[in-house]
Amino acid sequence: AGKDIATPTRTKEILEKYGFAFKKSLGQNFLIDTNILHNIVSEADLTKEKGAIEIGPGIGALTEQLGRAAKKVMAIEIDQRLLPILQDTLSPYENIEVVHGDVLGLDLKKLIEEKMTGVEKLSVVANLPYYVTTPILMKLLEERLPLENIVVMIQKEVAERIAAKPGTKDYGSLSVAAQFYADTEVAMIVPASVFIPRPNVDSAVIRLKVRDRPPVEVDDQDVFFRVVRCSFAQRRKTLLNNLMNGLFPKTQKDEVIQMLTDIGIDPTRRGETLSLDEFARLANEGMRRGL
Ligand code: SAM
Repeated sequence: AGKDIATPTRTKEILEKYGFAFKKSLGQNFLIDTNILHNIVSEADLTKEKGAIEIGPGIGALTEQLGRAAKKVMAIEIDQRLLPILQDTLSPYENIEVVHGDVLGLDLKKLIEEKMTGVEKLSVVANLPYYVTTPILMKLLEERLPLENIVVMIQKEVAERIAAKPGTKDYGSLSVAAQFYADTEVAMIVPASVFIPRPNVDSAVIRLKVRDRPPVEVDDQDVFFRVVRCSFAQRRKTLLNNLMNGLFPKTQKDEVIQMLTDIGIDPTRRGETLSLDEFARLANEGMRRGL
């Protein structure tokens, strides 16, 4: 269906035809490399039975590749100026629907029910606007949308934090949150030269394989995430210190030490060395003991 949008020549043609000026505040860095796009799409394991949701289609570079690989595509774009462009560039693809809006404000569950009927499985595939990477990812995961994979281009530094293992410098509450909901993997590092304009940060594609259920037994999710946040509050402090500062009354220090010892966690360890399983044990046991 015509020539690819994502070549430097065709992209410049489209931008000139519409007099389009990039808005930095919307994180507009468009992809101009079809190889990268093919690699991103192949990470999502799409078939002609599956659906794809794209966040921020831009001028449609990734969107058209998704249209070729999937049964149905819904692309959510905030920038009104791109709507007539997308209508033009995506006109050969009848299985693509563009929705105008801010992804953070939309009811995605409802949109999926309305627009993504008849697909076997659903994935999010996107080159995300970097200024809202974390809120978008947390929304996709926390709303427990019926997703198989989330394959997204994001800042390399954030990708490394999401996939980080306990005890490493990148491991933090974002790692725990993402790994609670998904199996995470940095799929590829991407050079700035494949974007126009070039972003000021390094980029990477991360693949989140969404889990059917969390990998650990957690009695109360709010308590679990409160324990996690509190344990990472001050990275130079011991786990015990962080817990006593943010979570437990000072008078219960002995009880907290006893509990940590009972569940096999040394109170002098640092929070950032705890695995998801250890955070779960700590949260569950803290509740059981009424601490
Ligand atoms: N997919 C295109 C590509 O790869 O060439 C464009 C990617 S660009 C990094 C991010 C896109 O997200 C832009 O088109 C921008 O207008 C759009 N965008 C920014 N904030 C958004 C939001 N809150 N909701 C939906 N789209 C947004």
